[in-house]
Amino acid sequence: MDSLKEYNIDFVKLKLGQHAFNFKIDNSFFKLKENSLVEQGDVDVHLLIDKKERLMNFTFTFEGIVETECNRCLDSIKIPVSGKESIVIKITEEPKESDGEIFYIGPHEISFNVYDQIYEFICTSIPMSTTCLDNADGEKQCNPDMLKFLSESDEEETDLETPTDPRWDKLKNIKE
Ligand SMILES: [Zn+2]
Repeated sequence: MDSLKEYNIDFVKLKLGQHAFNFKIDNSFFKLKENSLVEQGDVDVHLLIDKKERLMNFTFTFEGIVETECNRCLDSIKIPVSGKESIVIKITEEPKESDGEIFYIGPHEISFNVYDQIYEFICTSIPMSTTCLDNADGEKQCNPDMLKFLSESDEEETDLETPTDPRWDKLKNIKE
């Protein structure tokens, strides 16, 4: 079972220079996040750390597959993800809030947890709109039963909205 601790980088033990880490992300990784956008996935993450006196560069390279919902039929679909992202960690006497790219930590810190960064980089690399792939005829291979069900419930909603609100009619009269 994956645990957050596995994503702790004990940088204090690292010598100055470059260090490489590899993480194999699977379903248990996403289970650690409450209400995760992604429930299943298989992603290889490579982390290169360049350690200097008071500063470290973390470069994440990742590639794999995640499972998410189709925006049309809600079926589970597999999406390829990949990317390269960097953060900077500065060691300072006066740590302040991060802007998402630069993280400030105090001189007595000994480790930095990269779980949230990996989670965020993977999730933000997923396209906003995800739908089933097209078949050879250029039609979406969506779940037909689900599409039928969704379009029927759409119609019901429209029916409820159709009767005009008398207050709107009054307003219309004023305008005219
Ligand atoms: Zn679909």
